Amino acid sequence: MGADRQRTYLADEAATLAFGATVAASLLRLPHRDLLILLQGDLGAGKTTFGRGLLRELGHKGPVPSPTYTLLEPYHFDEIDVCHLDLYRLADAAELEYIGWRDLATTTRLVEWPERCPGLTDEADLRILLTLAGEGRQAEWQVLSEKGAALDAVLQDFAAA
Ligand code: ADP
Ligand code: MG
Repeated sequence: MGADRQRTYLADEAATLAFGATVAASLLRLPHRDLLILLQGDLGAGKTTFGRGLLRELGHKGPVPSPTYTLLEPYHFDEIDVCHLDLYRLADAAELEYIGWRDLATTTRLVEWPERCPGLTDEADLRILLTLAGEGRQAEWQVLSEKGAALDAVLQDFAAA
């Protein structure tokens, strides 16, 4: 586990949204509601777009602002709580405690710029890396836990479609 890297090409914004939506749909089929998903990639790679696709699929209607300044944006649904975080502006890893990270342990967390807190990798279930590729994006994912492995088949189906 963890060594395998899978990938798929996301030709446009709609594909990134659909990729996020795919993860959302499979999240609801899992017994767990506390996944930690790391979203890596440069500025403009599509991390927030992925989050928007995921949150919309869960039923969120409004905009999905980038949590760059607020650091976190919580979303509540009947079946699942999701917290979208962007750690870009985090000064150091210890600051994560001040923003209430522990209280989020039972929610599903989408974390942009997890590199700011290297320790998060140990806790994470899935890592998604987005990179610019031509006009689109390359998405790679890596399963980091057994919980994360439950999403792998769905992601592979998406990649094969
Ligand atoms: P990040 O959160 O990684 O900084 P964003 O999600 O804000 O990036 O996306 C930056 C831009 O990339 C947006 O204009 C978005 O529409 C665009 N984008 C997202 N996915 C794709 C894609 N697969 N192909 C082309 N453009 C994309
Ligand atoms: Mg972003």
